[in-house]
Amino acid sequence: MEETKTDRKSMSRRNFLKSTGAAVAVAAASGMVGAKTAEAATKIPKKWDKEADIIMVGSGYSGLAGTLEARRLGLSVLVLEKMKTLGGNSIIADGGANAVDPVRQKRQGIVDSTDLYFKHTMEGGDNINDPEKVRYMVEHALDDCVNYLENLGVKWPDKVVRGYGSLYERTHYIGTYTDKKGRKWQKGAANIYAMLDEMERIGQPILLDHEVTQIIREKPLSGRVLGVEVKAGKKKLYFRAKKGVVLASGGFGANLEWVIQHDRRLEYTGTTNHPGATGECIKFAEDVGAETLHMDYIQAIPLKDVIPPFKGMFFLIESEEVRKASPSMPYRIFANKDGKRFVDEGARRDVIKATCLAQPLFEPKNLIEANTIEELEDKLGIPKGNLVETVNKYNAACDAKSDPEFGKDKSVLIPLRMPPFIARTRALQRHHTMGGLLVKGTTGEVIDRWGKIIPGLYSAGEATGGTHGSNRLGHNGTVDSIVFGQTCARVIAKSKV
Ligand SMILES: Cc1cc2nc3c(=O)[nH]c(=O)nc-3n(C[C@H](O)[C@H](O)[C@H](O)COP(=O)(O)OP(=O)(O)OC[C@H]3O[C@@H](n4cnc5c(N)ncnc54)[C@H](O)[C@@H]3O)c2cc1C
Repeated sequence: MEETKTDRKSMSRRNFLKSTGAAVAVAAASGMVGAKTAEAATKIPKKWDKEADIIMVGSGYSGLAGTLEARRLGLSVLVLEKMKTLGGNSIIADGGANAVDPVRQKRQGIVDSTDLYFKHTMEGGDNINDPEKVRYMVEHALDDCVNYLENLGVKWPDKVVRGYGSLYERTHYIGTYTDKKGRKWQKGAANIYAMLDEMERIGQPILLDHEVTQIIREKPLSGRVLGVEVKAGKKKLYFRAKKGVVLASGGFGANLEWVIQHDRRLEYTGTTNHPGATGECIKFAEDVGAETLHMDYIQAIPLKDVIPPFKGMFFLIESEEVRKASPSMPYRIFANKDGKRFVDEGARRDVIKATCLAQPLFEPKNLIEANTIEELEDKLGIPKGNLVETVNKYNAACDAKSDPEFGKDKSVLIPLRMPPFIARTRALQRHHTMGGLLVKGTTGEVIDRWGKIIPGLYSAGEATGGTHGSNRLGHNGTVDSIVFGQTCARVIAKSKV
């Protein structure tokens, strides 16, 4: 009998709840939450220094999208950012975004649907993602993220590409934006500056150097979340949230200590993240009873050139045809220190992570350019003939539109024939933390260890778990943060408080 959509939905929901149950048990066993911290969080101040309907913690995609939506709905917002600069991981990100896009994809002859996007996202996360969140995200990616940014002035390229680890040609990559002062931005900065101009237009400030150091709840593990304790320079301040505290505070990719508690293999890796991606708000939420999930799933990708003391894992090799096709990684080849390919470069990011970890390490080289593959071999100091053989085999696969060795999709099989050839040394860098706070479906309401909603506490973006399951599809991060930043604001606006 054919499985219906509802069957599939409830099946996946059951899987998700099963995996959530496992995560609850692990967190409880870890004894990470002590009664002392919960009591400390109930020290309600005699006087609040500031108040607003919403305390928004973080100035990345989820914080700004949530703030703009809340203001549109008539709510007041205090935006707190602990760093001296704003934008978190979002402003340094590549800023690509997946969405089913009838205009661009139709022009390119790409067949797509939200069902297919849902399937890719769920399967890419081993079906332990929250299907409700995923369904909502894929259905709102175009309007609430890609078109949303476009309406704020971001210009997306006319073509979609297959972004690194996105598993399909639906990535909008790379956006550009010219701000009100005439400065030109691209990638994540384009998205953030477009939102910042809007923040300025509506007169919404961001309080920099305002670090949340505690969440304040009525009772140790029950009652409403009332506000937050804040460190502003040398001052300790208390800010009250009349309707809700939103943790739009990002992940913990820059927190090596936490990362290796969850994935020891990443001990000798650098990170793509900004230094503030340390995840302490997840801990503060746990202190008042919040549950987390999927904390062990940490994405590491070879995004940037390696610099010592880190070692290289492979060379990223490109030709002129490849550069013309796309700036995205799957269009290139990965060759190890023996000059051999070892993976489908367009595969899932966790597959690439596992295969990279199995490669012999080597001292990184500066970017190397050559007019022939032989010259590239010489300059890289790798065994003669291996890379030539690898490239010849790969070019034949491109001509045949089939890669028998690794099964790379034909959409990203671009030959390496036109010089100059460039090799960059790459290795894994801690990139994205799929785990985080457990929230109720699409609402952003944070759930406690007993499965109940914590009144007044919300979260969106990388601070939450559930959207990506075990493995985030490349370019679902922008969408997750911008879409659910907005839903949090909508839920708070409707709440009776
Ligand atoms: C280099 C790089 C490239 C990427 N490229 C892409 C891409 O092309 N496509 C894609 O989909 N995803 C990409 N990602 C992932 C994606 O950009 C992130 O998942 C997304 O930006 C997260 O947004 P966020 O709002 O949740 O968190 P962030 O943007 O990290 O914002 C969180 C903010 O909260 C602040 N904060 C934290 N704790 C506190 C506290 N205690 N008090 C006050 N403030 C606090 C932080 O300082 C930070 O500014 C990339 C990530 C990186 C690092």
